[in-house]
Amino acid sequence: MSTFILLLELAGTLALMAAAYYYMVYNPGAQKAWERLPTEAEYRARTGQNGALACSHCGNAETLDVGLLRVTDYRRQHLCTRCRNTLWRSRI
Ligand SMILES: [Zn+2]
Repeated sequence: MSTFILLLELAGTLALMAAAYYYMVYNPGAQKAWERLPTEAEYRARTGQNGALACSHCGNAETLDVGLLRVTDYRRQHLCTRCRNTLWRSRI
């Protein structure tokens, strides 16, 4: 009987950890916002640019590659260094 309770507690702990991972690390809200950003190819097509990309808002050619929620996030977003608009997304 005590083994069953122990297994139940283990399952509960694992479920809690999975839920914490889902909401804190994956973050479905941030994921949706990230998915709404164009990919680099879509951004290129949308703004009609070839070669080195420039910001469609201010024309600045310098971008900053940042993680969505943390530095090491595989979901990257590229911001204009001048006007701080988010331009496109990528993943590593
Ligand atoms: Zn800009």
